[in-house]
Amino acid sequence: MRVIEHLNKAKGKTLFSFEILPPLKGKSIDSIYESIDPLLEFNPNFINVTYHREEYIYKKREGGYLEKVTIRKRPGTVGICAGIINKYKIDAVPHIICGGFSREETENALLDLQYLGIDNVLALRGDAIKTETTFVPEPGGNKYAVELVEQIIQINKGEFLDGEKFEASTHPFCIGVAGYPEKHFEAPNFKADLNYLKAKVDAGAEYIVTQLFYDNSAYFRFVDACKNEGINVPIIPGLKPIVNKKQLTVLPKIFNIDIPFELYELMDAAQTDAQAKQIGIEWGIAQSKELIAKGVPCLHFYTMGKSEAVKSIAKAVF
Ligand code: FAD
Repeated sequence: MRVIEHLNKAKGKTLFSFEILPPLKGKSIDSIYESIDPLLEFNPNFINVTYHREEYIYKKREGGYLEKVTIRKRPGTVGICAGIINKYKIDAVPHIICGGFSREETENALLDLQYLGIDNVLALRGDAIKTETTFVPEPGGNKYAVELVEQIIQINKGEFLDGEKFEASTHPFCIGVAGYPEKHFEAPNFKADLNYLKAKVDAGAEYIVTQLFYDNSAYFRFVDACKNEGINVPIIPGLKPIVNKKQLTVLPKIFNIDIPFELYELMDAAQTDAQAKQIGIEWGIAQSKELIAKGVPCLHFYTMGKSEAVKSIAKAVF
């Protein structure tokens, strides 16, 4: 079922969903199932699976030469989605990105998804690879997520890149896109970022999932600003429990987000790892309870392959 149908059917009830990462290359899919199983009791409506593009590493060869090698540390997004649908009968949402794909490769990837009966995608641009300072699209690839949304809509309408028509699927893709309550780090300002977000919705995205945040007021401000801009699709808050002190500095760096001073003070004062984790879980519970009370469509948790803290929060609020 399409994510938007789940949201519409819920009639005001807050749904539960989460995101997982494909396992590291060489690890079995069982590690994925082990992270999903503990969360099944909360009846997730859909499970997102992230996409990880290639990276370049240098391998030392005989004679001391360094060879630039392409590796993909976490392949398997589409296969894992098919595995989830097959094993749990729960809708899976593959993330699909612009980076590393020509538009033709994207078209083929979309056809694969259709053959597998997957009718949801989260359409993203992706980040710059580590060896580049800014995002560089693949030759002939999409530059911004909005172009990817446009391409998916074209497939939904039954038209290939070359203009050739085909019989449109009776299960058109439901497209979600990313939104940033604290602004995307590259955007010149909050308003410009919102305009670009609106362009994704106008192009055909049916809902938004937010970047993680720890201050609910940032989310509420964002939702209000979206409404003022004429963005009227559901905005799903993305949450990730903070579970150790190291994350106080790591998460802002990776995700360009702010940790509220109160949370920082509480975590910083923790005497043990267990205490720090408990503080993070309690913060997540308080955040979730307030979001549910305000009637958010769904709580979407970033598990990053670790479901324990998410389970503690879900147990307290669902
Ligand atoms: P876009 O919407 O294209 O925006 C990127 C930047 O360009 C923004 O600053 C925007 O303001 C600006 N912009 C947009 N359109 C234009 C335009 N026409 N002209 C000028 N500027 C413009 N990354 C992965 O690699 N894999 C994943 O699985 C993944 N999952 C994610 C899930 C969620 C919920 C979120 C929030 C992020 C995820 N990301 C993932 C990270 C994401 O790829 C990065 O944040 C990326 O830098 C931006 O992606 P986007 O889709 O928001 O890009």
